[in-house]
Amino acid sequence: MKKIFFAALLTVALIFSGTELFTSRAQKIDEIAEIVEGAKILVLNYHQIADKDIYLAVPPSVFDMQMKYLVDSGCVTITPDELYAGLNGEIELPEKPVLITFDDGYLDNYTNAFPILKKYGLHATVFVIPAFTSVNPGYMTWEQLKEMEANGITVESHTLTHPKLEELPDDEIRSELLNSKSLLEQNLGHPIEFLAYPTGTYNLHIAGIAQAAGYKGAFTIKYGIVDKGSNFFALERVPIFHSPTTMKDFYERIVWRQNFEEFGWMKR
Ligand SMILES: [Zn+2]
Repeated sequence: MKKIFFAALLTVALIFSGTELFTSRAQKIDEIAEIVEGAKILVLNYHQIADKDIYLAVPPSVFDMQMKYLVDSGCVTITPDELYAGLNGEIELPEKPVLITFDDGYLDNYTNAFPILKKYGLHATVFVIPAFTSVNPGYMTWEQLKEMEANGITVESHTLTHPKLEELPDDEIRSELLNSKSLLEQNLGHPIEFLAYPTGTYNLHIAGIAQAAGYKGAFTIKYGIVDKGSNFFALERVPIFHSPTTMKDFYERIVWRQNFEEFGWMKR
């Protein structure tokens, strides 16, 4: 009799705890749904578009396939300004917004990526190192940047000389951020308000300096999808690297990753 009583008690306890678990999980899903509700923006991060056997260089033929995939799947490319306004609720973003970004301002962005972007009518953003612009032969010139800007490409800052900001004293961080901004503004004739942290490294202190320097947002290499829960000074990106299976990796990163995130398995 005692045994039966305990068995019944155990069953009731299990049912009760099961309900508890279910409730808290349901609540969690509600919370996650609330966080991801609204704008969800895929920000792709490229470096070089070239036939080189290094992970930072995506071959032009593969880049072409990736851009075609975005177009065929109904993605609409946006600018950093649109991302900012969309997250702030000032404008309505397209259903599948994508921000295509390139770091460093390599010459091949002009020679190889730009013709492909133009062919598909896509917008993109290049974060350049103005100390290298028109100086280092491996990087784009001011003329090339202006031509790209006249054709749907946005140019923003990747600091003046690409140092690891975390290793610099405050005054040098400030001058890297302010001088790159003003040099770009002088040469391109429009406000520069977005930054990509060199090597992706940042912390709250650096983010504060960037904000005080007049930036509205900064991109990291923190892997993830930008949404309402994102910090404007720690914007997530999905890096696209070259590998023996670049195209397969691309699908996995942009398709599966988003599904995982939706259930809160990745970012939070
Ligand atoms: Zn860089």
